[in-house]
Amino acid sequence: MDKTKRKAVIAGNWKMNKTPSEAKALLEEIVPAVKDADCEVIACVPYVDLSVALEVTKGTNVKIGAENCHWAESGAFTGEISTGMLKEMGVEYVVLGHSERRQYFGETDETVNKRTKAALAAGLKPIVCVGELLWERECDITEEVIARQIKLDLFDVSAEDVKKTIIAYEPVWAIGTGKTATADQAEEVCGFIRAALAKLYSQEVADAVTIQYGGSMNDGNADELLSKVNVDGGLIGGASLIAEKFAAIVKAASK
Ligand code: PEP
Repeated sequence: MDKTKRKAVIAGNWKMNKTPSEAKALLEEIVPAVKDADCEVIACVPYVDLSVALEVTKGTNVKIGAENCHWAESGAFTGEISTGMLKEMGVEYVVLGHSERRQYFGETDETVNKRTKAALAAGLKPIVCVGELLWERECDITEEVIARQIKLDLFDVSAEDVKKTIIAYEPVWAIGTGKTATADQAEEVCGFIRAALAKLYSQEVADAVTIQYGGSMNDGNADELLSKVNVDGGLIGGASLIAEKFAAIVKAASK
């Protein structure tokens, strides 16, 4: 396994934070702070912020993502947003299967799989989130849980498409809790995900896939987490809302 084959990817997940005017102000701080990054920088923002986010980041190295998408092209799905709508705006990435969507909005591996395939078919790059609950870790079934999610979420996704997919390992117990997985725990599961991808596809495919860690990553712990061979970047919640902290994580990933 050779980490140098993969460029780090740092993505902010803003969740349900920032109105359009607040989004503009935050991105106007982030853009100059990350302009020299030697990693991919993405801000995944609420739907209503996409337009202003794309405007502020036009011609810069900051890419924009959405936080979800539906699998149907159009139709009677009140409140949903299609991949075509995102694509036409110029959105490049989409977060799928975040634990908050699984926990509060009935997201299942089946719907994550449908959304993933729809995103890829539309030319969007999905950031597919997987991760175990604290109870599952305590019961020592982390690997079973992750293997199942990887297999189901990526069911019927071609080798070519999986290379365009980012996997975010986000232990649910570490999201928004201030509890971070240790760098060794993150490496262990990210390495397991890569091995699972090698079994499902091939080692060549597995080596090409970006695997992020997410869960209370911040400017204080990013260096150590990102030093691990299988941790190719981070999906950042809370710390992505503070330009200085987000830029520090981007800097750590650029080393
Ligand atoms: C997330 O929302 O994906 C996340 C990792 O949040 P936080 O960094 O706040 O734990």
